[in-house]
Amino acid sequence: MLARLRTQPSAELREAKPATLEPLLAVHTQSYLDNLKSISARGGGLLFLDTILNGHSWEAVLGGTGAVLSAVDHAVSGRGNSFAAVRPPGHHALAGRGMGFCLVNNVVVAARQAQRDGRGRVLIIDWDVHHGNGTQALVEADPSIRYVSLHQSPWYPGTGTAAERGVGNVFNVPRSPGQPPAFYVGDLWAAVVAATTDWSPDLILVSAGFDAMAGDPLGGFTLEPEHYADLTTRLRERVPGCPIVGLLEGGYIPDRLAAGVSAHVRALA
Ligand SMILES: [Zn+2]
Repeated sequence: MLARLRTQPSAELREAKPATLEPLLAVHTQSYLDNLKSISARGGGLLFLDTILNGHSWEAVLGGTGAVLSAVDHAVSGRGNSFAAVRPPGHHALAGRGMGFCLVNNVVVAARQAQRDGRGRVLIIDWDVHHGNGTQALVEADPSIRYVSLHQSPWYPGTGTAAERGVGNVFNVPRSPGQPPAFYVGDLWAAVVAATTDWSPDLILVSAGFDAMAGDPLGGFTLEPEHYADLTTRLRERVPGCPIVGLLEGGYIPDRLAAGVSAHVRALA
């Protein structure tokens, strides 16, 4: 993915400094973060079911958070849209528990930082094939953040029904696998329009997973790179002038992931 972005004239790659603990504490509990750090310091171990740490995981958490915060700072200071190429992903992480390969909830950490920087209303679009249960749990009581998620259903992690509306700020689009791409794009877009009617965000964050692409081993959706470009362009046109930051979530075929990210970044630039 990075090799491909390096050859892309529209993209300028930058390294970010690791984050401090403070922005993470706006979202996660101190005891949970202490636990991540100590498991990592002893060389790794099992955190929760499918979520495993190694000796570098804590470093990855601080590095990833640093990249996310740097991408937000870049966009909200008017220097242009940005994309944080981070792993592990984040949208399944809860305040006090990691799951689904996710350790910290990057997109909510980004939203809280942006709000401290004066961007009061934040729209989160999540097009990863899985429902962002962690993101929803962290924002569903807060009307200043709206969360729109397209995801496969029934599928991991089992949350994300259309009836889950938070305080009217949650817009879930659960869909069955194997449908034509236009079906997914159209239904996600209808939810974005619903979320941005009579409400305008100061920042758009995209939980940009690419496991909704055709052929991904962890999902059954059918999207292609052009659909991510189309959705990104539509977002830019829907809220002109609103900064957009994409954050990498899932996507499990490296070549396909690179193609999806590349299309998204091209449309952001
Ligand atoms: Zn996913």
